[in-house]
Amino acid sequence: MPPIIHPSDQKQWQNWHETYSQKLELLVDVWNANASQSTTEGYADTTRGLQELIAKALWEGQELRALGAGWSFSRAPATSGILVNTKPLNYVFPAPRTHPSYAGSREDLLFVQCGNSVAELNHFLKAKMGKALPTSGASNGQTIAGAIATGTHGSTLDFGAMQDFVAGLHLVVSPERHIWLERASNPTINDDVPQKLGAELIRDDALFNAALVSLGSFGIVHGVLLVAEDLYYLQAYRHRMPLTEGLWRAMDQLDFSGVQLPGPAGQRPYHFQVVINPNDLEGGAYVTVMYKHAQPPPGSKPPSPGSKLTQGDSALEIVGVLTDMVSDLTIPVMSKLLERFYGEFSNVAGTPGELFTDTTTRGKALGSALGIPLGQVRRAVETAMAINREYAFPGLLALRYTLPSKATLAFTHHAPMTCVLDIDGAGSARTKTFCQKVWQQLTERQVPYTLHWGKLNDLDGARVRSMYGPERVESWRKARAALLTSPELRAAFTNDYLRTLGLA
Ligand SMILES: Cc1cc2nc3c(=O)[nH]c(=O)nc-3n(C[C@H](O)[C@H](O)[C@H](O)COP(=O)(O)OP(=O)(O)OC[C@H]3O[C@@H](n4cnc5c(N)ncnc54)[C@H](O)[C@@H]3O)c2cc1C
Repeated sequence: MPPIIHPSDQKQWQNWHETYSQKLELLVDVWNANASQSTTEGYADTTRGLQELIAKALWEGQELRALGAGWSFSRAPATSGILVNTKPLNYVFPAPRTHPSYAGSREDLLFVQCGNSVAELNHFLKAKMGKALPTSGASNGQTIAGAIATGTHGSTLDFGAMQDFVAGLHLVVSPERHIWLERASNPTINDDVPQKLGAELIRDDALFNAALVSLGSFGIVHGVLLVAEDLYYLQAYRHRMPLTEGLWRAMDQLDFSGVQLPGPAGQRPYHFQVVINPNDLEGGAYVTVMYKHAQPPPGSKPPSPGSKLTQGDSALEIVGVLTDMVSDLTIPVMSKLLERFYGEFSNVAGTPGELFTDTTTRGKALGSALGIPLGQVRRAVETAMAINREYAFPGLLALRYTLPSKATLAFTHHAPMTCVLDIDGAGSARTKTFCQKVWQQLTERQVPYTLHWGKLNDLDGARVRSMYGPERVESWRKARAALLTSPELRAAFTNDYLRTLGLA
């Protein structure tokens, strides 16, 4: 049965945090005909429905773009043409048949439709499969396709960003063609799966790596093949710690030798995150560490589900929650609320989905995230702190870390690790200006950095090329042209954001 394509009469669309709005021609919600039962036939019918939407866009000369949860602060999901809301598409297919040469376990694989939220996937993996995602962002209301399209990351020291647990993509690229794409170096799915879906099978590392962080511009991602792992527990601690030389070394180089982290002595954490309130340095930074275990360690406490902020929350969630509490988040109010609601804790253990939860709060928050190589982190943070002394903003700096991603345009590609410096504040012109000042000074001081595609940025073609190098950019564009084979298709999957970035 064909999917239900529900057109809205809305001519204006706003992102989740209402930081911008966009005029558009048409917004459609797409539902599987039978939303409650995942079937291959239903999935294939929805593929055809998505192809018809692409045909409509081509026929009318409109741009077309898939929408996830609309959490991006950047205009990545915006279009003046047809916006296809893929959030209702949430079929899941555990343990698909694997390729004979696949070395991993079939039981770790989950093939999911694009609109599943990361929080939904956490629930499903735990309840039905006894598994968990290796990493996620701090809060998990993004759709899986939306999260990977901008390179969403967490702070796991032993893993990369979310796109790095993706082993296959099902891309709908034209009215006649849809593709199962995976790496030639790691064939994962049995050939009969794409065959059953009617998809053309392509195994190619360069195409796959480019299509991961696609900014919505490689067609519609209908399905994603994930590699999960056995369910694990994170034993979490948060302490306020003074900014000593030892803590600076930990932040700058992940060298923990000069600092006594909270929790079991001498163990390297699985998750390490530092939140700094630049307007209240006296009490120290908020250091959150988590250690990975197969079971909750004896004596640990479970997370409290009703609390406003959870153990995994980072700067953006904090500011979002606080701006929901007060209409005007001034600097003193922010510091007081932070102390009250973002407190210390010890020995709380939960699954990743319990510690990194969904957030339904809208809040009036705004944020930017910079990918910085180790060794440059202290310079970057001190630059931001110095700017705050001259031009204080009601916001926070947060540091998280990931292994470099294989995705061609991942902003977390810096080796051997990328530190992500989040600058999150109340949604105001001041927060924006603060971010701009930091970007500008880092450029002037020649501190290398990249910027999160889904958060606030001021990138243009020249800056994208200087940040990623012309080879990466050209390889991404070449891959896009190989999958979207005509100029009309490439034009349809373009938006103003892509043009501004010089990637169209
Ligand atoms: C409260 C909050 C917390 C956040 N926390 C983090 C964090 O911890 N770490 C981090 O890295 N980022 C974080 N972000 C940023 C966020 O993860 C990204 O902006 C992410 O891309 C949003 O996902 P989404 O589902 O809302 O996608 P959208 O914002 O709707 O879209 C993002 C991109 O994905 C594309 N897309 C969506 N669905 C499809 C599809 N089916 N096919 C093809 N393209 C598609 C869109 O076209 C667009 O280009 C946070 C944002 C907010 C608001």
